[in-house]
Amino acid sequence: MRQDDVGRDVEGLSRLEPMISERAARYIRDNFKEGAVVCLSGAGISVESGIPAFRGEGGLWEKYDPDIYANAEGLTGLLRRQPAKLADFIAGFYTLLIKARPTPAHQALAALERQGILRAVITQNIDNLHQQAGSRNVVELHGNAFRVRCPGCLKKITLEKERIKEMTELLKRNNSYARMLRIFSRYFPRCECGGRFRTDIVLFRELLPQEELALAYRYLDTCRLLLLVGTSLTVIPASGLPLYAKKNGSQLLEINQEETQFSQFCDLSLKGKADEILPEILDVLGYA
Ligand code: NAD
Repeated sequence: MRQDDVGRDVEGLSRLEPMISERAARYIRDNFKEGAVVCLSGAGISVESGIPAFRGEGGLWEKYDPDIYANAEGLTGLLRRQPAKLADFIAGFYTLLIKARPTPAHQALAALERQGILRAVITQNIDNLHQQAGSRNVVELHGNAFRVRCPGCLKKITLEKERIKEMTELLKRNNSYARMLRIFSRYFPRCECGGRFRTDIVLFRELLPQEELALAYRYLDTCRLLLLVGTSLTVIPASGLPLYAKKNGSQLLEINQEETQFSQFCDLSLKGKADEILPEILDVLGYA
């Protein structure tokens, strides 16, 4: 694609198609080729499973200040000063995650992978729903809430849902500073190397796991079509990935309820719920 074509419609396709029009269907049939597609997903894909996105109406940050609740120092300060508030936040967050089930959008992506069309999902989500839906090649840029990692030797351990449930129940009942420390030392124990396990979520101002980021770039080096699903693309460095893919010759297809700052760079933007559009794409391709 020529530089001056960036942001223009492909073959006269209009951006922000309300549903999949015949012309959009043609674009999909022409571009969803074997091994050609990679998806970059964000919080929007999981909204219908009951996990609110960060931003926008009903977003988590309306209720919780990210400078406190998404930041290691903020969380430590909260534990000392207002342990009950921290207990309430963690218990509420994990209750949502444990209840959540994959949406038709997660399932459609897993089906596209089984058909050999989708090579990988690069996700900013930490909810494990892509894997639950059956996706195998999942690159987790921001970690996974169902894992703990040792900051010393980087060993990772997956936490059973039952164990997390047990922890949230204890947090709901025992939320003084001393009791919470006891609960945390039980569920985030010491590693053999001497470090202490912590949640494997990338918090604000923390570095992304470099091997995951490198893997994401490798997928983008060869992909022909990058799907941007349910992401506002406001978080660095994930927000740099679409333009990297585009410079490498990939097309961009956005699926979002709203126009984003990236819509103008996309070859096609489908406006609506991912849970409705992705199954429709499967239908267009004859895999429904
Ligand atoms: P975001 O909250 O910034 O943006 C969500 C985007 O999804 C918006 O553009 C919104 O218009 C769109 N959207 C909402 N519902 C949709 C639907 N049903 N179908 C299609 N689009 C929909 O999320 P982000 O871009 O992923 O970036 C924020 C950060 O939030 C990421 O770092 C991620 O780690 C974290 N996060 C993850 C989860 C999760 O794991 N489920 C939940 C909240 C936040």
